[in-house]
Amino acid sequence: MPIRLIVHGGAWSIPDEMDTAHLQGVQRALAEVYPALQAGISALDAVERAVNILEEDPTFDAGRGAFLNDRGEIELDAIIMDGRDLSFGAVAAVQNLLHPVSLAREIMSKTDHSMLVGKGAQAFAKSVGMEELDPTALLTDRELAYYHQIKEDPNFKSHHPFEPLPSDTVGAVAMDQHGHLAAATSTGGTPRKMAGRVGDSPIVGAGAYADNQTGAVSTTGWGESIMKVLLAKTVCDRLEHFSAQEAAKYGIQVLRERGQGYGGLIGINANGEYSFAYNTEKMAWAWVDEAGAFQTRIR
Ligand code: ASP
Repeated sequence: MPIRLIVHGGAWSIPDEMDTAHLQGVQRALAEVYPALQAGISALDAVERAVNILEEDPTFDAGRGAFLNDRGEIELDAIIMDGRDLSFGAVAAVQNLLHPVSLAREIMSKTDHSMLVGKGAQAFAKSVGMEELDPTALLTDRELAYYHQIKEDPNFKSHHPFEPLPSDTVGAVAMDQHGHLAAATSTGGTPRKMAGRVGDSPIVGAGAYADNQTGAVSTTGWGESIMKVLLAKTVCDRLEHFSAQEAAKYGIQVLRERGQGYGGLIGINANGEYSFAYNTEKMAWAWVDEAGAFQTRIR
């Protein structure tokens, strides 16, 4: 089977001066993970590693660099899904962890549950030896300044960043040498979200989906609208009868027309064909093409 890797760094009105950081970030994830995928790591390992790299990068709204909620705190959501047997792990509203996607993977592999939130998720993270960071460790000056800018604005709505702005959630989709698919998504959510708010990203079928029989997808955008239409699953179902690109475009059409929403997605179908689509001004994404060359895009 062909080896495939595609990653994204969010769909929104990325300010022009942030283009380079976004492009470098998604390219770095490819550069570090694709050789390992060639050397034989699984699709699941590949998407976790790629998302880890993006979580470390302060450019993106995931791990370090995440938006602050209405209390000035960072709460993170993530999911990882295995296309072999549809197993997944997800976390929501966790704090002080750099790699929520790895906690999601631990839940998938070490518990008989699929999703943990809040305090229980924190306790489980500790029990598997994940480092709990100081609350300031994930905080960037950029997001602190943005928080103070929007904090008292009576007209602010959490989806404003998506129209024309949203934000830079991260995600990855991979196919390994055995033809297995996996997808992962990680986010800090939306700016000034209510404490406890959970968006689409950790919701199976909304923020990501992976099924070896159809395809795998990671989404980004205004979570409240993406959840309405279960965007990732909607695209995967469509892949049964349509090309990868047709399915992606259909998903965004449903998001816009039925969900009144904004966002973007990346995917790979069961034959190893890539797909992407978005209705925000920009989306940052990168993939390794059929010839093995790295391609990066921001529009
Ligand atoms: N989908 C994320 C959320 O609503 C945000 C994003 O994709 O940037 O939590």
